[in-house]
Formats: sequence, C-alpha cells, structure tokens
Amino acid sequence: MKDCLFCKISQGEIPAQIVYEDDQCIAFRDVNPVAPIHVLIIPREHISGIAAVTNAQQALLGHLLLVARRIAQDLGGEENGYRLVLNNGVQAGQTVFHLHIHLLAGRQLGWPPG
Ligand code: AMP
Repeated sequence: MKDCLFCKISQGEIPAQIVYEDDQCIAFRDVNPVAPIHVLIIPREHISGIAAVTNAQQALLGHLLLVARRIAQDLGGEENGYRLVLNNGVQAGQTVFHLHIHLLAGRQLGWPPG
C-alpha cells in the first residue's frame, strides 16, 4: 500500500534490520526497542490490523505466530520466556497501521502492560 511504512520495509524501499523473511512475511528489529529482543513480524500483504483480518487469512495469521515462535527460539528468547503483542487501534497503542506482532524478550516484563 502506498505511503505505508511497513509496506515500504517489506518491499526494501526503507532499510531495516531484517532477522527473517519468506514469501508471506518479514521480521525486523524494532527501531525503538523496549526490550533486549524486540522484533516485529509483519505480513507482506497490507492488512491494517488484527481487526481487519478475514477468515481467508487464517493460515497467514497462523504462519505469523509460528514465525514469531521460531524467531524467539533462534534469537535465544525462549529459555526465559517471551511475549507476543498485537496492538489494535489507537487506545491500544497502535501507531503503525500495518498488522504486526511484537516479539519481546530478554528482560523481566511487567503485567499488566501500561
Ligand atoms: P505499534 O505501536 O504497536 O503500532 O508498533 C509500531 C512499532 O513500529 C513501534 O514499536 C515503533 O518503534 C516501530 N517502528 C516505527 N518505525 C519503524 C522503522 N522504520 N523500523 C522499525 N521499527 C519501526
């Protein structure tokens, strides 16, 4: 989608520290990390957020979760635990309106989140 930051990263128009990619998704380090491991997993296809996902995209959603798990394992986040976060909408803190899963690991995470 034109003017979408994450579409531009997916298409290689904006640089990012990519940790994983395949034909369906790409994962890269968050530019403003809030944990030692902070990776964003996004579909290549533009979807504005989890609320916009359709039943036809069920397999894609599952793929994103499995990729997130694989990255957590590969980056060493699995031993002490990790968190996957999906912000949907302004009040939840969503700032980029292209679906993304935050993978957070490497420190003790508080609950409830702020
Ligand atoms: P959210 O607030 O859930 O929409 O998350 C958006 C995330 O994208 C934030 O954690 C930002 O730090 C991150 N972000 C914004 N621009 C970039 C970028 N160019 N490269 C990597 N991460 C980014």
